[in-house]
Amino acid sequence: MARYRGPVCKLCRNEDEKLFLKGERCYSAKCGITKRPYGSGQHGQSRKKLSEYGLHLREKQKLRFKSGIISEKQFSRYFKISARKDGVTGTNLLQILDSRIDNVVYKAGFAASKSQARQLIKHGHFLVDGRKVDIPSYRLKIGQEISVKIKSEKLIKSLMEDITLSATPRWLVVDKAKLAIKYDGLPERDELDPNTKEQLIIEYYSR
Ligand code: SF4
Repeated sequence: MARYRGPVCKLCRNEDEKLFLKGERCYSAKCGITKRPYGSGQHGQSRKKLSEYGLHLREKQKLRFKSGIISEKQFSRYFKISARKDGVTGTNLLQILDSRIDNVVYKAGFAASKSQARQLIKHGHFLVDGRKVDIPSYRLKIGQEISVKIKSEKLIKSLMEDITLSATPRWLVVDKAKLAIKYDGLPERDELDPNTKEQLIIEYYSR
């Protein structure tokens, strides 16, 4: 399935849940689902009851969107890796998604939204352990450090001034003065999105 490039608030409204795809706007009164708390389109106000398959599918789609609207192919690859790893498949999946550099840059407060993080990474503003990484899906290993290219420091600092994020996640060590982020460990399940029902996603892929 191709990458979704339409209006992202529509995704939240159709899923009937905030997916937090627009950074600060998601926490304000301008949030699309706050203003119009019903699905998009002609039949948006009449929600049908979902079948069991529909519930599994929607949960999978929601996590795909929340993780930065990643492609179906990539998401299914992450699921396969999670299932092969030791431990709990659902937690493995969430940890893999969380270790993507676009997610880390956003959660560390270096970008206002995941889409902005992706764009900054693609434009080559970040280094990992001193080497340029311009692939937003790059997965960090524990202990790796992200820094900002010297030429990009001014840009990133000016973006950061407008970001009022809540606390930095425990597993990231962030030095805002030096513009450095260390991926310092794996998050526990209870530190990740409590709204995701990963068991439904496992059932979707177990059909
Ligand atoms: Fe979703 Fe954010 Fe748009 Fe609100 S502002 S509808 S949470 S993307």
